[in-house]
Amino acid sequence: MNRIGIREVSTRRRARAEASTPVESEPARAALRFDGARVNGNAEDWEGEARAAPSRAASRAAARSEPQASEGNLMRISDAFTRGRPVISFEFFPPKTEAGFESLFRAIAKLKELSPSFVSVTWGAGGSTRTKTVELTARIQDEVGITAMSHLTCIGSTADELGATLAQLRGLGIENVLALGGDAPPDYVKPAGAFSYANELVALVRSRFEFCVGGACYPETHPRAPSAESDLAMLVQKVRAGVDFLITNLFFDNADYFRFVSRARAAGLSQPIVPGIMPIVSTASIRRMTALCGARIPAELERELDRAGDDDECTLEVGVAWATAQCRELLARGAPGLHFYTLNRSPATRRIFQSL
Ligand code: FAD
Repeated sequence: MNRIGIREVSTRRRARAEASTPVESEPARAALRFDGARVNGNAEDWEGEARAAPSRAASRAAARSEPQASEGNLMRISDAFTRGRPVISFEFFPPKTEAGFESLFRAIAKLKELSPSFVSVTWGAGGSTRTKTVELTARIQDEVGITAMSHLTCIGSTADELGATLAQLRGLGIENVLALGGDAPPDYVKPAGAFSYANELVALVRSRFEFCVGGACYPETHPRAPSAESDLAMLVQKVRAGVDFLITNLFFDNADYFRFVSRARAAGLSQPIVPGIMPIVSTASIRRMTALCGARIPAELERELDRAGDDDECTLEVGVAWATAQCRELLARGAPGLHFYTLNRSPATRRIFQSL
């Protein structure tokens, strides 16, 4: 893969230092995914671009005033993979406050201009964001007009509890769900009748509902899996239970993705495997995230991040350049789309798109 030109980054850094106008930059704060409680810094203050948050009505109006950007009346994500174009998606998490929602809707309005096929909304660990996830997914679909998918984790929940959530999502017109196992808290004791693995949730959805179902997968192997072989065997079991498409965990070396796809195909999986892309905006937070989710930072990227030091702007340049090079190669070599972990911000993702 074409790696980042160090010269390119330092030239931009110099050019920016020379310019008198401040450059849009991501704040150093960055979130760990999925759980507002794990956010580093002020969870509601990450959109540097949204300092003057508009009213809720204004945000909605701004989003609505854009031309319809989602792919026609697409509702089932599996249909998008049959259209011969890359399936582009953005992932958001539910903010904790009203101001956070306003900022998020501004980011969504900007990202809508990039015509995503769909967006997805994360599910807080242990269902901590249940109401907000359901509400946000429905609002994005209804008010902004982009096909939206709700994530749903099952560990610790019973079939009845999960069935109630799924029925609520269906009632709100949501057609797509990302069926996840989730992570148990450290002191977890399994409640009677609770699910433990995503394949159980997939089977529940298939037996009682009509959703299009996505699933997660791990090019570098899930951190709890005893081996890459057993992880793949469990993935095959999950997909056979009724998964329509897969989204990968974040990764930074495309070779890991291509190797994983080859292994999945050899194991008989034919479903689309969409690479998950994380534009790095903060060195400290990406180190924490990768430690948690088992993704490796390649030595070359480590060197670039070290060189950027605690200069957030330079880190952002490194992150955007790296992700852009990743995306170019992934699409050129046949990836069915790109799923961006946006951390509720638009600038990095927009810049990657502009460079593609
Ligand atoms: P599973 O498919 O259940 O796999 C988990 C582990 O158990 C693996 O090691 C697997 O090999 C093993 N395994 C699977 N099935 C079995 C079985 N039947 N018997 C024995 N072992 C088995 N987390 C959130 O809390 N909220 C989110 O919104 C969220 N969104 C995510 C989106 C994506 C695209 C990805 C990649 C991850 C996301 N996660 C989210 C994180 C995810 O919940 C964790 O990585 C979790 O540890 C595993 O979820 P899974 O769906 O892969 O689980």
